[in-house]
Amino acid sequence: MMCLMLLVALPLPPRLAADDSKPAPPPSPTSFKPGHEFVEVSSMIPSIVISLPYATDQNFFKKRFYASNTCLLRRSVVDRLAAVQKELAAQGLGLKIWDGYRPRSVQYEFWKTLPDPNYVADPVKGSRHNRGAAVDLTLIDLMSGEELPMPTGYDDFTPKAAADFKLVSPEVLKNRTLLQEVMVKHGFVIFPSEWWHFDAKGWEEFPLENFSPEEYVKSQNGSQKSQAKTQEYKALNSPKN
Ligand SMILES: [Zn+2]
Repeated sequence: MMCLMLLVALPLPPRLAADDSKPAPPPSPTSFKPGHEFVEVSSMIPSIVISLPYATDQNFFKKRFYASNTCLLRRSVVDRLAAVQKELAAQGLGLKIWDGYRPRSVQYEFWKTLPDPNYVADPVKGSRHNRGAAVDLTLIDLMSGEELPMPTGYDDFTPKAAADFKLVSPEVLKNRTLLQEVMVKHGFVIFPSEWWHFDAKGWEEFPLENFSPEEYVKSQNGSQKSQAKTQEYKALNSPKN
């Protein structure tokens, strides 16, 4: 009897939280609210250049984090980027994306490599990239693919990276201002410490996510194929008029 009472008095063990340091299974594309769905940027905007330094070891950490050069973002964010790309194309310019959606598990890997909030967003709070609502990018010449001169390269953590750093050449100032103006016009917010990072306005509405982009694309293609097969089957087996 004593033992039972003791057991009853013991506090309940804490509910096991999902382990965000490991990728979650890919969600169904139909499970998202309209506009919140994840889409591959290159399939929606074919002229955009995707070049993710984290899919190589040529980055700030000198370490590869992504399995491929696949860039996903929320559909409503990609719609805004499409408007930016269209406006730039009229001037012979375009966008080159350095980063988009980043699974939270990768945020944990960043943090393991460099646990310093001055450089890396704390994975417990998550980064806006983990919401699929932030994008790192620069301007390119659409014909040559050459990057336009900007204050710094990607992931430069010197004062020069600040979005309003003053000591830049007139050409660099013109390029950075053009990027900022066109992004703000189409629903993005400037990030004060990194000229290349923009948050989609309303980023708070998009929850943190933790699935692998490659697995998501694979599952999406699979479900599209099986939907097509079902339609094919229905067409073949439907009564003829
Ligand atoms: Zn960023």
